[in-house]
Amino acid sequence: MAFHPALIIVDVQNDFITPGFTGHIPGATKILPFINQLLDGSYKWDYIVATKDLHPADHVSFRASHGPTVIPKGTVIDVHAYGKTYRQQLWSTHCVNGTVGAEFHPDLNMDKVDYILPKGMDTLVESYSGFYDVIGRDNGLKKILDDRNITHVFVVGVAGDICVRDTALHAREHYSTYVINDGIFMSTAEAGQITLREFDDAGISVIKINDPMLESVKNRTK
Ligand SMILES: [Zn+2]
Repeated sequence: MAFHPALIIVDVQNDFITPGFTGHIPGATKILPFINQLLDGSYKWDYIVATKDLHPADHVSFRASHGPTVIPKGTVIDVHAYGKTYRQQLWSTHCVNGTVGAEFHPDLNMDKVDYILPKGMDTLVESYSGFYDVIGRDNGLKKILDDRNITHVFVVGVAGDICVRDTALHAREHYSTYVINDGIFMSTAEAGQITLREFDDAGISVIKINDPMLESVKNRTK
């Protein structure tokens, strides 16, 4: 059976992971050594993609974009865009294009990354997944992977229950999909439990960094 593995690194950006940045998840930097291990050259990936949440300053998903009143955390609103209505949870301002918060964590080893995939650049639409935005428009990732005959997708990054979750669920529609547990970090333990069940239901394998599948990425002849 063909084995052409790709690694997708989801949103390892300062605003999500680095202490001192507003939206960072406390403790999430512990995934960095594991992700860098996967990038150290000993793993023979056919392709490596890093997704990057990248928003205009007035993005629809920001609480600050919806008037001068203070909007409580966790607020969900109806958004009308491109003939569709969808539900959008509002977040603190994050990953604004041109800010340090939008940059990848400085310790992430980008040397071997083949492609940076920006997402969420449309003011009116969020994109958690690397594949499709929240109204189902294509970010182009499937074509990029298909052009390289990718068969297996391995996912790491943050947040495990949001952008990693949506990217992995979409990957599973097209590829054998693995989420590397040591390389993800959930926004909360509770959301993480729900997400792990969703992965299981979808047929996504959650594996450890020392899993035989990853050894087979190392040992394959490319
Ligand atoms: Zn975002």
